[in-house]
Amino acid sequence: MDTAFARSLVETLARRVIEHADELTQLDQAIGDGDHGVNMKRGFEAVLADLDALSGSNAAALFNGVGRTLVMKVGGASGPLYGTFFMQLGKAWPATLNAATLHTVCLGAVDAVAARGKSHAGQKTLLDVLMPVCELLATGADIAAIRTGAARSAQATVPMEATRGRASFLKERSIGHLDPGARSSQLMIEAVCDAVERAG
Ligand code: ADP
Ligand code: MG
Repeated sequence: MDTAFARSLVETLARRVIEHADELTQLDQAIGDGDHGVNMKRGFEAVLADLDALSGSNAAALFNGVGRTLVMKVGGASGPLYGTFFMQLGKAWPATLNAATLHTVCLGAVDAVAARGKSHAGQKTLLDVLMPVCELLATGADIAAIRTGAARSAQATVPMEATRGRASFLKERSIGHLDPGARSSQLMIEAVCDAVERAG
């Protein structure tokens, strides 16, 4: 992946999260402490501010730098988790990008998030979007299928009871709400799909 495309991808993703900060905060007000939008906005604004410096060398270094910025700036539970995702992407970014290597690198990044969060799919978290979408990559899914998969997976967190993160304190009262982290993951995946489509 050339650096210019990686940069436009990160920029699209950052802007998307920032645009939806209020929505993410509202979702977190329902089953958390109402800071997910603010946290993510602060982190991705720092990413945009550092983009020139971060984009200096190659896609791997850029993703790693994005991860480090998110760890430092987002805070909360989601900062270290999204930070880990991008840092691991950067660390293991393949020299040759194809469907198989993309699946492998994404799987490694999602596994690193799960290890960091001591969590797994089915607990009403961002993993409930990241994991199934990563699995879709192994099936040769096209962009439309990835968008649909991300949307469906995010919506599937609504009837779940949270067993990880702050929402788990609510026990069965967490049921009936969209998980804020699942929604931010969906937004980021949609932004990646947009960037890929734009590049043709
Ligand atoms: P905090 O919960 O510390 O206020 P945020 O509000 O920024 O942090 O992020 C909340 C989101 O983080 C949740 O909606 C959930 O998706 C995700 N999350 C929280 N804890 C975990 C965990 N252990 N594993 C995976 N995701 C988690
Ligand atoms: Mg919160």
